[in-house]
Amino acid sequence: TSALKDRRITLGRVEAPSGELLDEALAVAMHAPHSFTGEHVAELHLHGSRAVVAAVLDACVALGARLAEPGEFSRRAFLNRRLDLAQAEAVADLVAASSEVRRKLALRQLQGGLSNEVRSIRDSLVDAAARIEAHLDFPDEEIPAVASNELSQTMADGLARLASMLKTFEGTRMAREGIRVVLAGAPNAGKSSLFNELVGRERAIVTPHPGTTRDTIESTLEIGGVAVTIVDTAGVRESADSVEQIGIERTWAEVENADVVLVVMDAETPDDSTLKSLADDQSCQRIILLNKCDLVPTDQTELLKARFGAQATTVIACSALTRQGLEPLETALRDMAMGSAAPEEMLVANARQATCLRAAQASLLAASASFSAGLSGELVMVDLRDAIEHVGEVIGLGIGEDILDRIFSTFCIGK
Ligand code: GDP
Repeated sequence: TSALKDRRITLGRVEAPSGELLDEALAVAMHAPHSFTGEHVAELHLHGSRAVVAAVLDACVALGARLAEPGEFSRRAFLNRRLDLAQAEAVADLVAASSEVRRKLALRQLQGGLSNEVRSIRDSLVDAAARIEAHLDFPDEEIPAVASNELSQTMADGLARLASMLKTFEGTRMAREGIRVVLAGAPNAGKSSLFNELVGRERAIVTPHPGTTRDTIESTLEIGGVAVTIVDTAGVRESADSVEQIGIERTWAEVENADVVLVVMDAETPDDSTLKSLADDQSCQRIILLNKCDLVPTDQTELLKARFGAQATTVIACSALTRQGLEPLETALRDMAMGSAAPEEMLVANARQATCLRAAQASLLAASASFSAGLSGELVMVDLRDAIEHVGEVIGLGIGEDILDRIFSTFCIGK
């Protein structure tokens, strides 16, 4: 790196050890500690074809380099304390961010949103532990009432903050992970047409004959910042045709896995058999779509809306032909995914972090109960130490090599 000035882009020739010219490229050196990992780093900005990259990689390997492991750069950054573990995870999340909500959550995490809150809780618990510990040396002295109240308050605050983070995590699953939306309804109601209009390109087979969508087909789109997977299913009806029967069975499997079911009805010939078959299933939200409303007068759709209003969260008159009603549908889907979640309040991004926080919560609850019951300081300390340890694991304190291996192996190569 010494031939290149720190963090200055230089144009040059990339040559193989044999002297053969491989590419004309830009190079930048980042001298330690001014790099992502904190180490000396050199980057080549090549013409990105497979042939050029392969030739340059071969030359680097011939000169003694090796390919990076998945997540190796983030792991080095973590080990060199450039990032804590929650921030390193945010790098992987940012690379994989499939929606606006996830991008914002990952960025907030990379900037320390979760880490700062976790560190602040941990600091207050460490402080409480130190004060209890100090009293262990003088077992005959009671902790004065004022100090005792403060300690109880510290633990109660910690519990409230952990609970709030976990509650937001649980309440924002659909916003974070996206929702699965299944189109269901009688054959010819217009499911495939709606699917195509929503997805914005012709992917499902649309024909005027019932029963041609025999399998399920899905596509993921981003609606209002949230990932929405739309699944088109075979029409729901009894069928003697065994191929179609398989499609119908898949429909029910899809409905069971759905977050939202779009019950599509032909507004001309509304048939609520799908609704009836869904009647006992309270596990997901449903929207009734009165499709083909271009073919019926408005007062008739209004009557239908009133008739079905009690059986679904939302009833929307729509038309795959004129695209009427699709915007309200997208708004309704986005609102269902977001629920009451305020994206700016989300801190916890993944199950690992949530598991650490839940373990911390359980230990802190035990510590707090023992403390209130006036049990011995030693006993309180056992649980309090556990709580501190689990909170610290969120940002990677005291985490073993094997767990780090598992976390970083899910990263992509080059990050
Ligand atoms: P599916 O069996 O529920 O998937 O229904 P399709 O999407 O295959 O649609 C069945 C027929 O209804 C096709 O001929 C479509 O062109 C027609 N269709 C679908 N949606 C509408 C609509 O909103 N208005 C009108 N006029 N025709 C529609």
